[in-house]
Amino acid sequence: MSELLTTLKNYYGYDTFRPGQMELIEEILSGRDVVGVMPTGGGKSLCYQIPAIQLDGVTLVISPLISLMKDQVDTLVTMGVRADSLTSQMSLDEQNDTLRKAVRGELDLLYVSPERLENDYFLSHVKRMTIDLIAVDEAHCISQWGHDFRLSYQNIPKIREICQNNPPFAAFTATATPEVRVDMVKKLQLTDPYQYTASFDRPNLSFSVVYPKKKQQQLLSILKDKETSIIYCNTRKNVERVHTFLKKKGYPVGYYHAGLDPVERNQQQEDFLYDKTSIIVATNAFGMGIDKSNVRRVIHYNMPLDMESYYQEAGRAGRDGAPAEALLFYSSQDIITNNLLIEQGNHPHAKKNLNTMITYCKTGQCLRKTILKYFDEDVPWTNCENCSNCNGETETVDVTEECQKILSCIFRMNQSYGMGLIVDVLRGKEIARIQNLGFHKLSTYGIMSEYSEKEIKDIIALMVSENYLRVGGDQYPIIQFTSKTPELLHAKTRLSLIQKSEKEPIKPLKETS
Ligand code: ADP
Repeated sequence: MSELLTTLKNYYGYDTFRPGQMELIEEILSGRDVVGVMPTGGGKSLCYQIPAIQLDGVTLVISPLISLMKDQVDTLVTMGVRADSLTSQMSLDEQNDTLRKAVRGELDLLYVSPERLENDYFLSHVKRMTIDLIAVDEAHCISQWGHDFRLSYQNIPKIREICQNNPPFAAFTATATPEVRVDMVKKLQLTDPYQYTASFDRPNLSFSVVYPKKKQQQLLSILKDKETSIIYCNTRKNVERVHTFLKKKGYPVGYYHAGLDPVERNQQQEDFLYDKTSIIVATNAFGMGIDKSNVRRVIHYNMPLDMESYYQEAGRAGRDGAPAEALLFYSSQDIITNNLLIEQGNHPHAKKNLNTMITYCKTGQCLRKTILKYFDEDVPWTNCENCSNCNGETETVDVTEECQKILSCIFRMNQSYGMGLIVDVLRGKEIARIQNLGFHKLSTYGIMSEYSEKEIKDIIALMVSENYLRVGGDQYPIIQFTSKTPELLHAKTRLSLIQKSEKEPIKPLKETS
């Protein structure tokens, strides 16, 4: 048996490496920089831990979350590996003790946060350590192109100069588009790294985009009492709203967002982890570092801002390998809200990221294929038979004429109002605001009276996502023209809407008072 396999067996109790692990370990041991891109749970940690065990000196592990560091150190120590971490929660004496051990070479692994690399006292000790390897966890955080940029990661490349013997870098991430990967290699200043990217396909996960008429009712038709589910919402307010609704309906449900006090938050998390509540409604603050294998369903009640976050969050379903579902609720309102958030924010790539999500909702192609293509992975199939597009019914409807009616109405309303009022004017609603503004006299008043509010909103959202309209305004979203609008207004281009069938509701649980 090779030495690596022996180490794997002796320390971890496993008989074989997973694809990519052995190659990454061998390259690290040969002194080369490496990049490992593997899904969460794919087995990245072992790729730097085994070299750390085999190498004489210390392996410095840079990791962004204290809770994860602690878990890893605890596990390693019980396996008989000399591992420790430096955290701000430790007393100065404890920190000094750990530093001394590292300098004396009595540690195999030392876990630190990226912020620690700004600390001169720490760096002066690093100079005296024999560091054989620097492992960077969540390495995509160094790239501004990603969804998780962290300023403190900028300190990482400099650490190599401080070390005595130019140790190799091993960078790991679970989430990286090709763009982010290239940027990550550049920002970390890696030299000709060996790169291994595992497949991101999750065959046991079924993907669906759902077009609910009423989102809350749709939840009732999907949720099953005993099955573990996570429901992600975009705001704390929505979390609380959905939580209250489900609680009233009698579901065993908890909630989680960053606005809760730490004790409450911890309690909610524990209740979910230990199956006291089978459903948790949460913002994206929930989940990082949570390893719950029996999540049967992840529902996105609102559209996430980018595909990387979406896939990571959806990927928390079905870690145990058994069938599980990832459902995304589409609504035109989310497109408007997200566009406004992006207009107001200052993220250079946000619009492009959001459009990827909109395309995902709107595509008629295999959803799994669409996701994997985004991560630059080619798949052999055209039909996965496990997503709402491959299994479901979709139809394409030409809505160019509807677009023209809507655009001319927006024009006549001076491009100064939000979606709600535009829809009301088009549907010819008799309300005081319209009368006061004189919009009941417009030629476009009531020209879409036979359409539902939702149908018109869907078409407006489609135009926003295709850049024929933009969302402006400081406080309230205002729908305005773009430089592309005339093309559509004059029918030089046509737009189609993809419509999908709705999930059949099953009977809701009985209400409790
Ligand atoms: P990641 O850091 O990529 O999210 P981990 O390193 O935490 O994943 O590994 C996830 C789980 O898979 C751990 O329980 C780990 O022990 C296990 N694992 C890793 N490599 C192997 C292997 N070769 N054989 C069996 N289990 C493995």
